[in-house]
Amino acid sequence: MYDLIIIGAGPAGLAAALDADYLRLRTLVLEARKAGGALSQMYPWKKVDSFLGLPGMKGQQVSDRIVEHVRSAGIEIKEGEEVREIHAGNPFRVVTKDATYESAAVILATGVRGVPRKLGVPGEDLPGVIHFLPDPGKFKGRKVLVVGGGDSAADSALGLDAAGANVWLAHRRDDMRAQDESKEELRKSKVKILWNTEVESVFGHGKAEGARVFSNKTGEKTELRCDTVLICIGSESTKDHLERLGIRMERALVKVDEDGMTSVPGIFAAGDIVSRIKRIPQALATGERAAYSAYKYIKKPYWK
Ligand SMILES: Cc1cc2nc3c(=O)[nH]c(=O)nc-3n(C[C@H](O)[C@H](O)[C@H](O)COP(=O)(O)OP(=O)(O)OC[C@H]3O[C@@H](n4cnc5c(N)ncnc54)[C@H](O)[C@@H]3O)c2cc1C
Repeated sequence: MYDLIIIGAGPAGLAAALDADYLRLRTLVLEARKAGGALSQMYPWKKVDSFLGLPGMKGQQVSDRIVEHVRSAGIEIKEGEEVREIHAGNPFRVVTKDATYESAAVILATGVRGVPRKLGVPGEDLPGVIHFLPDPGKFKGRKVLVVGGGDSAADSALGLDAAGANVWLAHRRDDMRAQDESKEELRKSKVKILWNTEVESVFGHGKAEGARVFSNKTGEKTELRCDTVLICIGSESTKDHLERLGIRMERALVKVDEDGMTSVPGIFAAGDIVSRIKRIPQALATGERAAYSAYKYIKKPYWK
């Protein structure tokens, strides 16, 4: 039984965790992927332009610093623990694939990108199958299969092409949802687009060495040998789940009061899911506010 469970270990969740620890709350952080949030998952190679006191650092470096800071305080972060359900009550029950945890309060800090959607095909969990593009430059001369038809698939394929990778783009339809400008650039690029094509499986010994794809028009099967499979088919939105819980949303944001509490008493929210301004300083500030408010909610100090 914890005082507080924080869902998501990005800047908001980590700031909340540090503050909760300072306030002596017994805290658990549950993270679906790896701690660090968008910094390490989306732009590890990019310079972070807004972190006061840490000029010129890249996303991964900032992520390492903030994760290390929280871990060194002795705060428990469980990675690979995607939260699937929250049952409101006293205590709250927070359910992941393998376990159920209990706490007196919960902070949602899941960001807006959700958890990458999976194809649901054999071999998808092999090393070499990725859902975000780290430094495109690392793929120079490599063979990469990008799967998807939206902006992130198009941008990733273009970024890889510009970096000198050999790129296939497999899309299950005969047109893409991506911006017209990207589609135009794709036409001019060396990216080989496989229309009406779906992935049947990823194969390899210990790591991805290729994918078996098939045409959903003709049924024809092809084996593509590649080093990396980049799956860009969107994210599992947490919105439906939040609404099912009775958490009120307003224009795609979780609605919170001035203490950062949602419409469900005891559930707080922080970071990109509550902020119009989606920046790290905002995430840190709302994370701290949520932790402080959770402390008041749990401990009910006389001065509250
Ligand atoms: C390409 C790009 C560049 C950016 N550059 C800058 C910049 O230079 N400066 C700046 O200030 N901001 C920048 N931002 C914005 C900044 O990264 C975000 O505002 C910030 O990361 C928000 O923090 P967060 O903790 O709310 O969410 P996130 O960082 O998105 O973290 C949320 C975490 O929750 C986890 N999670 C999601 N669902 C679940 C679940 N069900 N169970 C468990 N865990 C879950 C995710 O895996 C993730 O780790 C950039 C964003 C992008 C996409």
